[in-house]
Amino acid sequence: MMYSELIMDYSKLKKYKGKLKDADVVEEGKNLSCGDEITLYLKFENGKIVDGKFEGIGCAISQASANIMLESVIGKDKDEALDILKNVYAMVKGEDFEKEKLGIVKELEDIRNYPMRIKCFLLSWKTLELALKKQV
Ligand code: ZN
Repeated sequence: MMYSELIMDYSKLKKYKGKLKDADVVEEGKNLSCGDEITLYLKFENGKIVDGKFEGIGCAISQASANIMLESVIGKDKDEALDILKNVYAMVKGEDFEKEKLGIVKELEDIRNYPMRIKCFLLSWKTLELALKKQV
């Protein structure tokens, strides 16, 4: 799938949009350079992310990325989510990463060539990182 098509499809996804009332962790993130904002809600059970949603405003990339991030980490335990996160960071830095661990996220590899867009893309992932640090 084309990179731009993927962004368009995922930016319109409604599945993960909204407030999660029984969330265990709520974390806010902002990307000042673009005006993107998200509030991330995660629910954990036995160390596993069992549900997640987000509210927010921002550009198509930031919204699409939040949907893709949630699709990637729901059902994973904390260590698996951190491992995905590590690979996402490596991908945007242009370092070697484990493609098989990133699923749909690896389709956005080209983002590394657009420095202004990387912050939009990373907002949801950085917010996830903060949320995981809160979760004991
Ligand atoms: Zn943005």
